Formats: sequence, structure tokens, C-alpha cells
Amino acid sequence: MRIVLLGAPGSGKGTQSQLLMKAYAIPQISTGDLLREAVAKGTALGLTAKTFMDAGKLVDDATVLGMIRERLKQPDAAQGFILDGFPRNIAQAEALSQMLAGMGTPLQAVVLLNLDLGVLFKRLSGRRICEACGMVTNVHPDFAGVPSSTSNVHCEGTGGAHRWIQRPDDKEDVIGKRLEVYDAQTKPLIQYYSTAGLLRVVDADRPKQTVFNAIEHAVADGAAT
Ligand code: AMP
Repeated sequence: MRIVLLGAPGSGKGTQSQLLMKAYAIPQISTGDLLREAVAKGTALGLTAKTFMDAGKLVDDATVLGMIRERLKQPDAAQGFILDGFPRNIAQAEALSQMLAGMGTPLQAVVLLNLDLGVLFKRLSGRRICEACGMVTNVHPDFAGVPSSTSNVHCEGTGGAHRWIQRPDDKEDVIGKRLEVYDAQTKPLIQYYSTAGLLRVVDADRPKQTVFNAIEHAVADGAAT
């Protein structure tokens, strides 16, 4: 399976990528995660990227494309991959298409996780991530799965309780900017991939297992190769 998960911040791309990764034994390639790793390591790339990320803006294309090019060359991506948070604009989509054509492994589908703006805002502002194991929850019980305050799930990172934190860019003042950037730069990809015959639309305002099943159907129905 070689797919892109497309959708606004908070539409569930990360959660669905995790489920797909387990089911198909292929890697989730998230440019957001790769960038956050660079920030955590304090590399020069990470330091520059952090300024943009904290402001809810996109990191420059050359940086992101360089990271993706390296990541796609890793052996684990040979069996397939789930691209999460990439591409984010038309230039990145065109570069990706060229990269994959060169490797002889074109995309099979682009799945749009469709969600109302109000729901997105609530999901993002309530999102909490365990800094030890990366598990995601939400303070709004509607979205939680595992409400942070009552979670007794064993954390692989700490060996005990999770350590929930809020991503700096999930603060309310930055969320508005991220959704604006999505509208202006990423949304045009819907038309782009629709024209390319790759787009599948999934209603993401449903329980995560239902959304997962819908993604599987959408990809299987429209699989190009
Ligand atoms: P995400 O975790 O996908 O929401 O990404 C968090 C932040 O990382 C974004 O708000 C951007 O600042 C940056 N970022 C992630 N992916 C990309 C990308 N493909 N192009 C540019 N910036 C990105």
C-alpha cells in the first residue's frame, strides 16, 4: 500500500496512520514527526524549523523534500508507506510524484479525511500527547478513547503512568493559523489529486475503527495498481 493521508490538522491522520501501519506492516512517514525529532535533537534544521512550526506556518519545501527523499530510500519503505502530513502544497505534490515515478512506485491512492472545521478546532485544542511513548488522547471525552485524567494504561516509555503534554502548536492561538494555512496551501491538493484520479474521500467524524474500515475500503476499491 502506497498512500497519502490528506486532511486538515486534527482530522485523525496520525491516529489512522498508526492503525494502518500495524495492519499492513508498512511505515508511517510523518513530516511533522520528522521535524519534531529534529527539533528535539536540537539540530540546525530543527532550530530553523521550530520557528515556523511554533507559528503554525509551513517549513520550506527544500527542507521537507530533502527529509522525504532520504526517508523513502530506507529499506522499510520498499513494501509501501503511509504519508502523513506530506505533501502540504502543490509544489510538494509535484516533487513527490516525480520522486516516486523515478523509483517506479507511484501512489495508489490519496485518502482525504473529511471533517467539519468546528470539530477540528475542538479536537486540536483538546489533544494531549504522552511525551514518553507518543500515545495520543484528548481531554474532550467525545474524542478521547483514553481520557488523560483517568488513564491507567501502561506507558512503555515511563513504565508507569503517561506524561501528557500539549504540543506548542496545539495552543488555541496557533490552531487558527494552522487551519488558515491548510485552507490556503493544502486544500488545493484535493482538486489536484481528484484530477489525477487518486482521491478517495472518507467521512472522518466517526469512531476511529469505522474510519479505519472506510479507508481500507476506499483504497481497495480504487487501487490503481
Ligand atoms: P503536523 O504534525 O503534520 O501537524 O505538522 C506540524 C508542523 O510541522 C506544521 O504546522 C508545519 O510547521 C510543519 N510541517 C509538517 N509537515 C510539513 C510539510 N509537509 N511541509 C511544510 N511544513 C510541514
